[in-house]
Amino acid sequence: MLISITNTAEPATDLGFLLHKNPSNLHSADLSFGKAHVFYTDAEPHRCTACLLLELDPVQLVRGAQQLEDYVNDRPYVSSSFLTVAISRIFGTALSGICQKRPELVTQPLPLEISVAVLRARGDQDLLPQLFEPLGYRVASKTLPLDPHFPEWGDSRYVSLNLQAEVTVHDALSHLYVLLPVLDDHKHYYIGDAEVDKLLRHGEGWLSRHPRRQLIVQRYLRRKPDLMNAAFARLLDEESAAVEAGETSTEQSALAEKDLERPMTLHTQRLNQVAGRLKELGARSVLDLGCGEGKLLRRLLADHAIERIAGMDVSHRSLEIASARLRLDRMSERQRKRIQLFQGSLLYRDNRLAGFDAAALVEVIEHLDPPRLAALERVVFEFARPQHILITTPNREYNALFPTLPAGKFRHGDHRFEWTRAEFTTWAQATAARFAYQVRFEPVGPVDEQHGAPSQMALFTLPQAVSA
Ligand code: SAH
Repeated sequence: MLISITNTAEPATDLGFLLHKNPSNLHSADLSFGKAHVFYTDAEPHRCTACLLLELDPVQLVRGAQQLEDYVNDRPYVSSSFLTVAISRIFGTALSGICQKRPELVTQPLPLEISVAVLRARGDQDLLPQLFEPLGYRVASKTLPLDPHFPEWGDSRYVSLNLQAEVTVHDALSHLYVLLPVLDDHKHYYIGDAEVDKLLRHGEGWLSRHPRRQLIVQRYLRRKPDLMNAAFARLLDEESAAVEAGETSTEQSALAEKDLERPMTLHTQRLNQVAGRLKELGARSVLDLGCGEGKLLRRLLADHAIERIAGMDVSHRSLEIASARLRLDRMSERQRKRIQLFQGSLLYRDNRLAGFDAAALVEVIEHLDPPRLAALERVVFEFARPQHILITTPNREYNALFPTLPAGKFRHGDHRFEWTRAEFTTWAQATAARFAYQVRFEPVGPVDEQHGAPSQMALFTLPQAVSA
């Protein structure tokens, strides 16, 4: 089983950082069913190709064999659920959208070319474009002959696949993770509840809008009715939340903001970047201030290094949605102990906010009237005073690049301001100085040379945490 990923954006070897695999080395790992190897066939500034080769262990594979077909089959060659397990083991960090050494690369769409050597196209080759084109890929496939030495024997049931797109490595791996087993339509392991979580986690940001989502869910979950129902209910959840957003005018514009930013799934990038940073900072207790419907909380729950999570929002309705989405009522007792949701305001001193390692405010400050920021600053920086504070907010300069946004308008009807990079930097530096934090900045989303990135993040740290 072989797949390759090629990057042609200079310096192309950035791919090595993104995959966490140094292009100069061969990387091998033992899996329960065989051995996986990652190696590079090109590592030049203009072109870099990483290959993942998976060798199935034939002895493991036939354990429990009962008939000849158990011994002689296509499993060692065809890209299947074995390969997706390998992807999550070998490229797990990249699949989670984390790149510690070069975080700014994670959200950067790159001109990628992906080749899958052998794929079972289950008699329906049209499915390849149907699955990949809506995600922005150019799709080429070639039917493989049964035996190249005997062309008269005709074609096999297998194809090789070539995909090209401007995508982030994180998105490309997520697409492959979900769609390879869908194409193979077979799984080598037991399919249970965990599979629904995996599907929704890796399908986040694209599956609910995919025109073939019905088939993807069916095949991914091996047509198990209970699991399919659970998955559809959760996908519907995502949609109905968007529909509910039409109920009030400010929420209506939240929907519009989503549409505006949709081509980049910017919000997903933003949340992944914040979650990745919190992980790197080693935070064990995290406050999500203005947690909204709990998208960051979901990511934090998935990170087992985080022992204590609290989500606060002023909106009761948002908290209800968060609680339903996170399925707090159905959580195991152990999980339930890790997380707490409560209503509160960033404008009032609150003892519940003390004693956390880190706090995140993702796209929250711009919802407050500027004169009230001073109150927020004291609540967060003086009273809650965690080691790390991560704040993201839109970069107004980038609005020029949203074709449907009239000049001078904000992205969201409830935004009280949107700052340029200079304005945000000035505010953050003054705030850091006043409360004795250090601050650094990061772009969020693809960086435009002139206008910067769509969002911006400031990372505040108490100096003792730096020297510790
Ligand atoms: N952080 C979330 C939601 C961002 S929307 C996400 O990234 O998905 C802004 C959120 O801030 C809303 O949920 C809103 O209810 C909340 N909010 C606005 N003013 C607030 C205040 N004074 N105190 C706490 N939360 C507030």
